[in-house]
Amino acid sequence: MKSLKLKIIFIVSFIIFMVSFVVTGYTIIYEKKQSQLRIAEAHKSVTTTYNESMNEFVNFFQARAYEFITDKEIFRAIIAKNHDELYQLTQEKWRVLQQENSHLIVLQFHNSDGTSLLRVHQPTLYGDEIAKRREMLLEMHSKQKLLYGFEEGRAGFVFRVLVPIFEAQKYIGAIEFGVSAQNLAGLIKHNTNFDSVFFTHRSYIGKFQELKDAITIGDFVSLNMPEALLPLINRYQKLYTTLENNFIDFDEHSYYLTTTQIKNYKGDAIGLLVFLNQMDDLNDYIRSLALSSFFITLTLILIVTTIVNILYNKISSRMNFQELFSQAILDAIPSPIIVTNGKEIILANQTFLLYFQYKTIEGFKKEHQCVCEYFEEGSTDEFLLPKVNDKTWTEYVFDHPEVNHKAKITMDEKTTVFDVKLSALQYKQESRYVVVFTDISSLQSISMNDPLTGIANRLHFGMVYEHLSVIAKREHSDLGIIFFDIDHFKSINDMHGHLIGDFILKSIATLVQHKTRKSDILARWGGEEFIILLPNTPLENCITIAEGMRLMIANQDFENSLKVTCSFGVATLRSNESSHELLQRVDSLLYEAKELGRNQVVF
Ligand code: GH3
Ligand code: MG
Ligand code: MG
Repeated sequence: MKSLKLKIIFIVSFIIFMVSFVVTGYTIIYEKKQSQLRIAEAHKSVTTTYNESMNEFVNFFQARAYEFITDKEIFRAIIAKNHDELYQLTQEKWRVLQQENSHLIVLQFHNSDGTSLLRVHQPTLYGDEIAKRREMLLEMHSKQKLLYGFEEGRAGFVFRVLVPIFEAQKYIGAIEFGVSAQNLAGLIKHNTNFDSVFFTHRSYIGKFQELKDAITIGDFVSLNMPEALLPLINRYQKLYTTLENNFIDFDEHSYYLTTTQIKNYKGDAIGLLVFLNQMDDLNDYIRSLALSSFFITLTLILIVTTIVNILYNKISSRMNFQELFSQAILDAIPSPIIVTNGKEIILANQTFLLYFQYKTIEGFKKEHQCVCEYFEEGSTDEFLLPKVNDKTWTEYVFDHPEVNHKAKITMDEKTTVFDVKLSALQYKQESRYVVVFTDISSLQSISMNDPLTGIANRLHFGMVYEHLSVIAKREHSDLGIIFFDIDHFKSINDMHGHLIGDFILKSIATLVQHKTRKSDILARWGGEEFIILLPNTPLENCITIAEGMRLMIANQDFENSLKVTCSFGVATLRSNESSHELLQRVDSLLYEAKELGRNQVVF
């Protein structure tokens, strides 16, 4: 029972735990997904901004290039490849451009033969065969179309826009604009609020110069570095050897580093644009969710444990009460009752213990294995023995409900005959038998005998009389009746007391009993009236017997020479008379005897 309680608590707690586990887990997974979505969104917005900024630059510088070309004087200077004049003519525009964009670091005019016509940003250096050192220029001179992308040059690793120049559809050279990576990062910051770093693969740099203050992670080298990101990138550098999407913890915060590819003029991936998402929201959320779900689970389990405990106590106290109640019922029954599983006694009532003279059932079981040890052989096979037909007595009784089973037991030299009734209960896998022993020896005498004198009572007499009167009539035999009544018994009672009266009743019954034959029936009719049934006895013999009895009683000395007499009515059954009429007749004969002065026999 106790283990059942623990089992219930365990199962319910387990269910609560599992539900909480699943719900928490699901919520965490959902939140993680959401966070991944946020990262993906950030990634998309940074990438989009990067691409849009590039396009903006391209469009912007394409427009600026046309401004230069459509200026007739500048155009003529380009055709004439006149370095000095071109420098003079472009000064004003260069100044305006730099005002527009402080990150503009390259403005160069290229001749179609691959030489540099003018570096507006570095006018002293020109005429060199720059195209030999820069792939993008070679591509321009051969394809003669708009190109843009990151490429290393004298001014560094720069995002460049190259616009071709034609004279009457003949390619004569190109204008080149270049902005730093920092410029693009600034635009991204402005549009998305993300700080970002451009990294290039190390194989794309080093032809002109090494990058100063650059951070290297794996094969990648940084092109710019926002101040806010420097410690985080340093941290990342310590944690990882390759640059790719990764988590970093720094200064009690969590970040997710995301990368997107950057490409050169021909679409080759040459580096990575890197930015960081702070993940604290999610981690804090998960921590507080886990904590709160832990406490909720704990509280629920505590509540359930308390409820189960209360219910258990209620049920068990009710069951205790029921047990006591059923024991009380068993104890109230005046017949011995046992509950057995067929092997040993499990329960017994008070009557059983009283009868066998034990205080407890344990005491009985210590000395006896089975109540059947007491069973004695009887006159018929209705009497049970420990084993009947190779079966235990309980099995035998169970299998033969049609038989009135009896058990004969002697205790303290008193033999009692019990009627044995058994009812079976199936309890789980076990059989339980409830066996009731009803004392039929005492029951019979209670119902058939007069308790004071021990002789047959009126009921008993009536049954035998009906039976014998039928036989007498059929066989035409004599059936005699002697009906007698103690004279003035009321005054004996009054003078000597009821106890003496009872004593006289008992004594007369005993005296008369001795005078009758075995086949005669003496019964107490009621009060101080007795009746004797004498089968096969002619009237004369009945009269003689009655006269003998009258004398015997009248001569008897009862308590302190107390004398008692009786009056008698005697008759035999007539052929035309009913048994009831005979009783009426003998009653009036007795009445006559009283009338005639008592202590006499009238017939
Ligand atoms: P009578 O000679 O006419 O028969 O007079 P009686 O007094 O014997 O008859 P009555 O019917 O007036 O009284 C019968 C008495 O028998 C009354 C009652 O108290 C007494 N009696 C009946 N049964 C018992 C009994 O079981 N024990 C005792 N002690 N007295 C009993
Ligand atoms: Mg009377
Ligand atoms: Mg009387």
